[in-house]
Amino acid sequence: METKYIFVTGGVVSSLGKGIISSSLACLLKARGYRVTIQKFDPYINIDPGTLNPYEHGECYVTVDGHEADLDLGHYERFTDIQTTRANNVTTGRIYQSVIDKERRGDYLGKTVQIVPHITDEIKRAVKALGNTGNFDFIITEIGGVVGDIESLPFLEAVRQLRWELGDNSLCIHLTYVPYIAAAKELKTKPTQHSVKKLQELGIQPDVLVLRTERDITPEVRRKIALFCNVAPDAVFQSIDVDTIYRVPLKMHEQGLDNIVIRETHAAPAHEPDMAPWMRFLDKMDSAKDTVTIGLVGKYVELQDAYKSINESLLQAATYADHKLHLIFIHSEKLTEANVEAQLSALDGVVIAPGFGQRGIEGKFVALKYCREHDIPTFGICLGMQCMVIEFARNVLGLEDANSTEMDHATAHNVIDLMEEQKSISNMGGTMRLGAYDCRLAPGSKAAEAYGTTHVRERHRHRFEFNDDYREQFEKAGMACVGENPDTHLVEVVEIPSKRWFVGTQYHPEYTSTVLNPNPLFLSFVRAAIEYRDEKHQVNS
Ligand code: GLN
Repeated sequence: METKYIFVTGGVVSSLGKGIISSSLACLLKARGYRVTIQKFDPYINIDPGTLNPYEHGECYVTVDGHEADLDLGHYERFTDIQTTRANNVTTGRIYQSVIDKERRGDYLGKTVQIVPHITDEIKRAVKALGNTGNFDFIITEIGGVVGDIESLPFLEAVRQLRWELGDNSLCIHLTYVPYIAAAKELKTKPTQHSVKKLQELGIQPDVLVLRTERDITPEVRRKIALFCNVAPDAVFQSIDVDTIYRVPLKMHEQGLDNIVIRETHAAPAHEPDMAPWMRFLDKMDSAKDTVTIGLVGKYVELQDAYKSINESLLQAATYADHKLHLIFIHSEKLTEANVEAQLSALDGVVIAPGFGQRGIEGKFVALKYCREHDIPTFGICLGMQCMVIEFARNVLGLEDANSTEMDHATAHNVIDLMEEQKSISNMGGTMRLGAYDCRLAPGSKAAEAYGTTHVRERHRHRFEFNDDYREQFEKAGMACVGENPDTHLVEVVEIPSKRWFVGTQYHPEYTSTVLNPNPLFLSFVRAAIEYRDEKHQVNS
């Protein structure tokens, strides 16, 4: 079958969930046996989101090949179990960089380099790059931003041209918002009409509309929108608020989104989607009665997307452990010796978040000391693991000024230090230790038990590492280095074996946790938290 290209655009407002709709469609198509991938085109000028702080952009996701990517790629992987790569996330910055590089090389043979055709050609090339591999039946391309933005124009022009070239092998899904005006007791279609007009002005006629709404769209509203927007009535879908994003694929299937996509692109017929494993996950979520309470200690607690993959990994793990997740965000900047008991004592488990820089770090040490001394299941991720090491050095090894050289350049006890290969790096973008590396786990360690193997591969995003000079001192005092890179011997996992569950990973296990394949370390942590809760209850009753 020829590769089919599905474009997903958005109108009216941002944050409508284009990523969730794209992921849901990919999930359904994959469950029908098609080979699918999703890519995201972001209209900003940064080369990648690696240099953006979470206030700007939420979490930075990392692909297996070490690309710092938009957090939507996390949704793509969690919904589809398909690994994405650098090719799945392209920004305006990357497009321009590549065009300017070509210009400097002289590739344009004296021509004036322009947005049309040179930038648009480069976008088209990037859109088709994955399709040209022959590995996919469907390429879903999500265009970031909102129709009408200046930034999106070259992308939409490229989509217009591609639709012309690809004909039936392409399809455009446009996502809009249908607000409910309480005073008038009415759903309003005008923003959708305007947004589709805007798209039509740019030469793109959407084939499918997905309407984000908080209320059921009536048949009448659906007909009206179809009529005004030149779309078949059965190609107008509603995406109503649901309690979990993981219900969206089923909601879309009920309405026939995958059918329409197959019909309109003349794709080879396929069986009905096998959603049985997905349904089992949702059933578990629905039938769980008990709750496990986990605290996440970090400095971006007011941002719901800053630790997206960790939140989702915890939810997946809790669900597979037949529990509801009660996740409490704890502001590391506000955590002190005076209030730590009040904030942490009722928790069943604590995650110490990744991060960069000094802000909020002292609160992480306070949390870790409390968790270690009270034997609360604790999971440190990246900076969280480094903090575990520093706290242990300060309070167990007695190295009072122990620190990471990221926080204190001149510390006498640099238990966390800049990696050798990082010392000559001056550019900040894309230069961390990124992507998947092998890790060997010590047999019998909590980590090895959790994974059920001593060899794992997880993704990284860091510049600093455990300082091997201190290894012996740590191990003698009870913190074991149980995971290391087989080539460089860089310490990847530490744990305190005498504790219930006190594990820190230099890598980010949250990037590989998906709905159908939850990460084993999160599962093991959540199970430990549940056991600890049960023990507490027994003691108290
Ligand atoms: N700032 C730390 C480092 O660069 C940890 C990074 C992280 O938590 N992702 O090593």
